[in-house]
Amino acid sequence: TQHFLARAQTHSGLGSYLAMDEAVSLRQAQAADARLANGSAGTLEGVPMAHKDIFVTKDFPTTAGSKMLAGYRSSFDSTVVNQLAQQGVVTLGKLNCDEFAMGSANENSAFQPVLNPWDRTRIPGGSSGGSAAAVAARLVPAATGTDTGGSIRQPASFCGITGIKPTYGRASRYGMVAFASSLDQAGPMARSAEDCALLLSAICGPDLDRDSTSLDMPAEDYSRQLNDSIDGLRIGVPAEFFGEGLAPDVRAAVDAALQEYTKLGAKLVPISLPRTELSIPVYYIIAPAEASSNLSRFDGVKFGHRAAHYTDLVDMYKKTRAEGFGDEVKRRIMIGTYVLSHGYYDAYYLQAQKIRRMIANDFQQAFQQCDVIAGPVAPTVAWKLGDKSADPVAAYLADIFTLSSSLAGLPGMSVPAGFGEAGMPVGLQLIGNYLQEAKLLNVAHRFQ
Ligand code: GLN
Repeated sequence: TQHFLARAQTHSGLGSYLAMDEAVSLRQAQAADARLANGSAGTLEGVPMAHKDIFVTKDFPTTAGSKMLAGYRSSFDSTVVNQLAQQGVVTLGKLNCDEFAMGSANENSAFQPVLNPWDRTRIPGGSSGGSAAAVAARLVPAATGTDTGGSIRQPASFCGITGIKPTYGRASRYGMVAFASSLDQAGPMARSAEDCALLLSAICGPDLDRDSTSLDMPAEDYSRQLNDSIDGLRIGVPAEFFGEGLAPDVRAAVDAALQEYTKLGAKLVPISLPRTELSIPVYYIIAPAEASSNLSRFDGVKFGHRAAHYTDLVDMYKKTRAEGFGDEVKRRIMIGTYVLSHGYYDAYYLQAQKIRRMIANDFQQAFQQCDVIAGPVAPTVAWKLGDKSADPVAAYLADIFTLSSSLAGLPGMSVPAGFGEAGMPVGLQLIGNYLQEAKLLNVAHRFQ
């Protein structure tokens, strides 16, 4: 704990931490030492971790990357944080992220951008950019992230680490500041699939009293299949993930990884996910619609920021929200409110829900021919700071390979595959069928 606290201080210029409290972390570490000494240690006893600032914590402030939550302190820990603590994890602090997890570059954080440790002129990815950069720079052995449309997988890919988003509902959303509730999922980000397996076992499990969408299934040992042979494994390769938009350097790294799998005995099976392109408009209708509803709770009364000067209640709401939310969050609230409004609901929201179902069905068709699906995580390596910040649609388009599996609720992960342009890391995306996390981790581990 002391080592990682010191390292985080030395490299604070990366911008990955939003809050630290040495006294709290050292107290937790001492408690871990005591449990190790008296034989009551958990599976992760004494392992230092830091949490994406989307998870509420009672010992550290929680901002969700937003000025709206200035001064807010939760009275409880989110289930994911709590379950990790139960296993002995020591919390080093809270990690930077895009405001309310909306973004792909971490540049929507209200506080500071995060720099990619591989090249400090580039973004680390988002929205869990602080988590990915901190793990990549060895400021912490592992971190939590959340993934609504790619926010664990894409920053993991851009920073050369391993991250897994489990099946929707496998981890409790209790105490995760909500963005799009039908998509949000927590997951671990670490150096290897082996580490992710240990962490995922602690994170997952039912929490029905607090999150009614959590799956009623006991926790499982995700390390159990790590060393299984993948001889004969059928890897589905979707044609739509290798089209024109894919940068040649990323394609080369992903192709090389797939060839490596054939050497391990796997077979590559060409498959089709015909509605891949539609996942962008569908996601960017459904996610903002849910966000516009979820974010209505930030009204200046219950949490965080309240405007200093106002005339009446409505004026207080307006000024608080105008001051507290950043541009991207406002954009999503406006899009979401529009697509849910009378007269547009059928044309946009309902239509998007129907296509979402078709996208999920396409995956089920594909899984009749293969065991896992593999492809790129993102069309390019991490871009330069500022490159897409003036053009939100350009950033949305870069989410093309992660959105469809999120809409379907499938588990997905990013595994370091090699390097592309300018020596930047490239991730291989693995997508499994529902509840196939142990298989995904096995496939990743054999490659590592
Ligand atoms: N980049 C996507 C968005 O901006 C996904 C974010 C996420 O998964 N939280 O919505």
